[in-house]
Amino acid sequence: MIEQRTIKTLTKAKGISLHSGVCTDIIFRPAAPNTGIVFRRVDLEEPADVPAIATNVQDTTLNTTIVHDGVGVSTVEHLMSALSALGIDNLYIDINSAEVPIMDGSAAPFVFLLQSAGVELQGVPKKFIRIKKSVCVKDGDRWAKFDPFEGFRIAFTIDFDHPLFQSQSQHAVLDFSSTSFVKEVSRARTFGFLSEFEYLRERGLAKGASLDNAIAVGDYRILNKDGLRYADEFVKHKILDAVGDLYLLGSNVIGSYEGFKSGHAMNNILARELLNSPDSWEYVTYNDDEKTVPKSYAGLVTAF
Ligand SMILES: [Zn+2]
Repeated sequence: MIEQRTIKTLTKAKGISLHSGVCTDIIFRPAAPNTGIVFRRVDLEEPADVPAIATNVQDTTLNTTIVHDGVGVSTVEHLMSALSALGIDNLYIDINSAEVPIMDGSAAPFVFLLQSAGVELQGVPKKFIRIKKSVCVKDGDRWAKFDPFEGFRIAFTIDFDHPLFQSQSQHAVLDFSSTSFVKEVSRARTFGFLSEFEYLRERGLAKGASLDNAIAVGDYRILNKDGLRYADEFVKHKILDAVGDLYLLGSNVIGSYEGFKSGHAMNNILARELLNSPDSWEYVTYNDDEKTVPKSYAGLVTAF
């Protein structure tokens, strides 16, 4: 049986939040089977829960913000991406501000923390969302789609008209049966254009941004003195974002996702479109020996 997963022991992180610029503490706590991923705002007079599900997404301006009963948590996508990669189904995340810390701008610090806490198998079948029919959403020249695929595969194309992007690959296809998310994707950092920075600051965004947590793209070069972590770090980060946004479906997906100039908004529209098309997908579990789990998820058979 492939079992639901939580973490073994409580673990903590602390850091600056990208947009609000405040210092934020988060505490990860084990949660019972079928709880899902639930943020808990502990800075309010009454602690308030915000379930990390696609239908709670309200704002997608440069981050993914979830809101429940008027209480929000923003920039959840990199953490959700780490949780998807580790297949963690159930977790409480106590947070003392309205925004998840940005850490180094990637998912790697969250992966490391959660791996260090250890994974607990929970004795209850893990539910996967298996794509049965294609679902596609479009907005102008941007689009995103799901297709049936016995595994988990992501293809992504970015298209930035900028000298720096002409010299590097703006397209990537990753099949997670042969590619490790932790090694090949989790370290890809968020990025921003210096030319847009002042505009963002004026709108109250990117207050916590620095070269420690983002790749700064100047007119002709990257300002971070150590350069890039992957040759195609930009498109890899968009894949990291997509994996996080899709995990708001509440389960790991058995299927293929492709995005063309997609972002948080379009990823959420796709997730909602899927949920609204019940004949396009089904829940599957692996609780007997007859069905074999796709290779992309073979790592979920055991804890680590
Ligand atoms: Zn991102």
